[in-house]
Amino acid sequence: MSMFDLPPLPEVPIIGESDTYPLRRIFCVGRNYAAHAREYGFEPDLEAPFYFTKSPASAVLSGAETPYPPNTESYHFELELAVYLKAPLFRATREEAVAAIYAYGCALDMTRRDLQIRERKKQRPWDLGKDVENSAVFAPATKAADFGTVAAQRISLTQNGTMKQDSTLDLMLHDVAAVLCDLSGYYHLGAGDVIMTGTPEGVGPVQPGDLIEGRIDGLEPISLRITDPA
Ligand code: MN
Repeated sequence: MSMFDLPPLPEVPIIGESDTYPLRRIFCVGRNYAAHAREYGFEPDLEAPFYFTKSPASAVLSGAETPYPPNTESYHFELELAVYLKAPLFRATREEAVAAIYAYGCALDMTRRDLQIRERKKQRPWDLGKDVENSAVFAPATKAADFGTVAAQRISLTQNGTMKQDSTLDLMLHDVAAVLCDLSGYYHLGAGDVIMTGTPEGVGPVQPGDLIEGRIDGLEPISLRITDPA
């Protein structure tokens, strides 16, 4: 018997299914679009992707209203394609990787940019910038069979109705299969693992009251309202 009960973690709705997708781990790819790498002064790294993680306890669902987080003056939006796995993957081939994908969805990787950059400069981990309460936002997911193949679908985000991010999924430096092949060399991946595949350029800060809306062709849109600090 557990000493105490924890709040239940949010589970991601799946379009056309009554069951929901529970979250085990959240992996995120850094700088996976060249134009986003360059907007922060980095040359694109074509060798291999790199990663950070967010706690599933930081997850919220699309439509949420979340308070502006503490100890930041630069809380940023990043719209990303999320990939939901359904089967074990370890040292996977591209074919195995694609076969293990259950669903795709829109996600937001909300980021305390000032803390991420401050810690990076000190060669410290990014956790304070990235593993932020309420910072992993998930829209209802679409089963891979219904979405089809990741190609040049448009990925775009508006802030209070103004377009801020506008790109296409084919501009990922490391495509979904390559990310899964690489990541499965470090972890025994499986059902419950979701991968945020990186954001295109145009990221920027939010303020209390802002409405962030993201879209990827063929997927359910995502929205997030930022409220006053709690
Ligand atoms: Mn990101």
